[in-house]
Amino acid sequence: MIANYHTHTARCHHASGTEREYIEKAIAEGLEIMGFSDHVPMPFPDGHQSGFRVRIEELEDYIRTLEALREEYKDRIKILIGFEAEYYPAYFDAMMELIAPYDYDYMILGQHFIDNEMSPYVSAPVTDEALLTRYVDQVLAGLATGKYTYLAHPDVYNFVGDEDVYYKHMKRLCEGCKQMDIPIEVNLLGLMGGRHYPSNRFYRIAGEVGNVAIIGCDAHHTKDVADPEALRAGEEFAAKYGLQVLETIELRDPKK
Ligand SMILES: [Zn+2]
Ligand SMILES: [Zn+2]
Repeated sequence: MIANYHTHTARCHHASGTEREYIEKAIAEGLEIMGFSDHVPMPFPDGHQSGFRVRIEELEDYIRTLEALREEYKDRIKILIGFEAEYYPAYFDAMMELIAPYDYDYMILGQHFIDNEMSPYVSAPVTDEALLTRYVDQVLAGLATGKYTYLAHPDVYNFVGDEDVYYKHMKRLCEGCKQMDIPIEVNLLGLMGGRHYPSNRFYRIAGEVGNVAIIGCDAHHTKDVADPEALRAGEEFAAKYGLQVLETIELRDPKK
């Protein structure tokens, strides 16, 4: 691995380690590019405070800390400043406006909820086709904005209903990603944690469609950065489905 674009910081309130520790681990593992993608702060109109993302008042510190480290480490590693963000149609404009004043590099799409986080977490098992349809529609609409560089854990949606229904909609998702030239992520956090993603049934479809993949550490602890055992597992997983795996990625400028 020479580049990882999926890293969290303690500011999302469920990860540990300082930015410096993540960067030092990345250098020790031989990475050339280290992208931070903490959960984007989200201004909910009713004052709802998220428990798993950077708080609005922490945004400034997130950016300034990484800017200082980017400068300090510039001769040793390329630091990128990004966000993992959902696409919640009703809140998207406010979210983009909130982060617009900052000089950040990229966003990845991680659709942890449908519509907003007051709705059920997408990892909760569901059997309702209407919900799966909405998940896929929102992910595709989010990617169509052109703001997102890649799709994180595309198969985070835990549909446990009819397999034909799963196939139909996830094929639509894979085809949309292919058309828009969006890489899909093999998520090492899920793989090593024995989560329901990355799932064989999803990547079988991706292999059939011919999607391009990227391996993402989704690091929540320093040890997760380019962990050799996890990387091996990720590469084997992608190889099983014949997916082309990108080593580095072309960033989409969220400000365009
Ligand atoms: Zn995520
Ligand atoms: Zn993540």
